[in-house]
Amino acid sequence: MDEIVKEILFPRAAIQKRVRELADQISKDYAGRELVIIGVLKGAFIFMADLVREISVPCRVDFTRLASYGAGSDSSGKVVMTKDIETSIKGKDILIVEDILDTGLTLQYVVNWLKERNPNSLKICVFLDKRKRRKVSFEADYVGFTIDDGFVVGYGLDFNEKYRFSPDIYVIKQ
Ligand code: 5GP
Repeated sequence: MDEIVKEILFPRAAIQKRVRELADQISKDYAGRELVIIGVLKGAFIFMADLVREISVPCRVDFTRLASYGAGSDSSGKVVMTKDIETSIKGKDILIVEDILDTGLTLQYVVNWLKERNPNSLKICVFLDKRKRRKVSFEADYVGFTIDDGFVVGYGLDFNEKYRFSPDIYVIKQ
């Protein structure tokens, strides 16, 4: 963890507390229903694993994968789906789980593509929201924390595949 200069943004305890709060809200909102939770790989896998263990309504999980960022820290603006889900979502209640909402291009693409399959409902849960960086008008239904501009790593988020497994979230200092 020493190659780049970084500063802690959210320590593990704050993350765990916020995940439980999100899960409680989701469990209340979906009481009596069954959820299909779709995680966006790779970044969301740790957040999603924590979240599903705190949600009290019955869930199924599936995953999609999209390419948009390449290996750097700035978005190319182009989104390509590289892994489809394997669950039929027609008539189901869907919750998309993503690590971070930045320009909005990735989630806008996912939502448009999944809506074509006629789910009963579709909501978005993101752990981090960089609201000021949006390039398209797009809001998540559940947000862990809203953050300022800056590149963050840890808790599933990587920088060239590094720092993904840190239990804390850091912001990289340029
Ligand atoms: P968007 O399409 O909203 O611009 O980008 C969403 C994706 O960009 C996220 O799923 C994530 O993979 C990547 N991303 C955006 N900001 C950051 C960041 O600060 N750190 C990391 N590691 N990835 C980011």
